[in-house]
Amino acid sequence: MTPLLDLPSAHAVHTGWRSRPAAQQPAWPDPAALESAVGTLTASAPLVLPRACDLLKSRLAAVARGEAFLVQGGDCAESLDSADTAAVGRTASTLQQLATVFGYMMSLPVVTVARMAGQYAKPRSAGTETRQGVELPVYRGDAVNGHAFTAAARAPDPHRMVRVHRRSGATLLLVRAHCASEQAGPGYALDALRKFAAGAPERARYEALTQEIERAGGFIGTGGGWHTPGELFMSHEGLLLDYESALTRVDTATGRPYATSGHLLWIGERTRLLGGAHVEYFSRISNPVAVKVGPGAEADDLMRLIDRLSPGDEPGRLTLVARMGAGRVREVLPGLVERVAAEGRTVAWVSDPMHGNTIGSPSGHKTRRFDDILDELAGFFEVLLGLGAHPGGVHLEMTGDDVTECVGGGAGIGFADLPERYRSVCDPRLNRDQSLDLAYRLADLLDA
Ligand code: PEP
Ligand code: MN
Repeated sequence: MTPLLDLPSAHAVHTGWRSRPAAQQPAWPDPAALESAVGTLTASAPLVLPRACDLLKSRLAAVARGEAFLVQGGDCAESLDSADTAAVGRTASTLQQLATVFGYMMSLPVVTVARMAGQYAKPRSAGTETRQGVELPVYRGDAVNGHAFTAAARAPDPHRMVRVHRRSGATLLLVRAHCASEQAGPGYALDALRKFAAGAPERARYEALTQEIERAGGFIGTGGGWHTPGELFMSHEGLLLDYESALTRVDTATGRPYATSGHLLWIGERTRLLGGAHVEYFSRISNPVAVKVGPGAEADDLMRLIDRLSPGDEPGRLTLVARMGAGRVREVLPGLVERVAAEGRTVAWVSDPMHGNTIGSPSGHKTRRFDDILDELAGFFEVLLGLGAHPGGVHLEMTGDDVTECVGGGAGIGFADLPERYRSVCDPRLNRDQSLDLAYRLADLLDA
């Protein structure tokens, strides 16, 4: 356990990471502009409060104990320019529908977390991008620069972090309004599932499953798939340390520091270096945190990472998000899960079946095959169940909209269909029907 008097000072939170190498940070061109943006954020209202972070931590503790299931999803990257505020409600509704299917499948309450209200910064594999002989800085998310391929748009602008904070506050208001409305009521998700099943190519099987879900309504409580009606938490990758640090506040009730930019923050696959700035910053905040774990992860490194991020082994503090790829998950994941269990550590294991399965389409779009996503998810369940461990949840890039970004699924989207409604500025998302297809197909597989 953490010693009682080991309270990291706020000063250490704000400065500790600065002496470590920070991967994936923008080269802000103007120190005065950065200082001004950080000053504005430091004086801005928190987006979430410590007690709500603690509540999510207690929910995730149930996931870690095998008593609940996590459904986490949303955009790869949110966009500041999108004026479509109703999209927030459509994604929240889709998450609730997913929660309803997964809750039935697992016979467990579901904790629902959106990649929303802060998912504006992206790690990239290269620093620049070249098109037709022109080389420009890579797009790093709307918190940093613009997506358009012009020198002006691609120049990092720290004031964008302030816009992200304001926009995230507005998104939170929309989410709260949605979650308090009748659309988040228990009947609404079932109704939507009934309509989805009636229109699906695998209609007979999907309708039978929907009826089972309806009959079992009591199983998932009165929440219609939510752990508690209308309970939806916010999450994003804690990538931009200037932004996160400026929004970190000490909870006066306990003296503990919290990131107030979102309930749950995660460290990405590219920034989980043990000696790096991200691990240092994350080790000092009291929120529930997650880490992406890719196929190259070594068990020894993972144990050291767990020691850094969850020294007290508090259930719910740490969620591990496996993103191995369909071809690797059955080979790589067992050793890691076994080692964590052998060392007696309490973590939640969830599957991100998206990021290990990205391919290029002939049209040059980044895409993912529905069948690969389903296969990785099935592999994750095989591995965890085979080891007597709890498959704790799913982490998806998805939207409530009818986009054409991933190929396959019930509607049979092909490579040629991608340009039609490809809206993502970063990775391809499952559209609403593909997301539900995934849940129904997985439920079928696990039932077999
Ligand atoms: C992401 O979640 O969008 C992402 C970049 O993931 P990863 O760190 O697993 O590559
Ligand atoms: Mn992504």
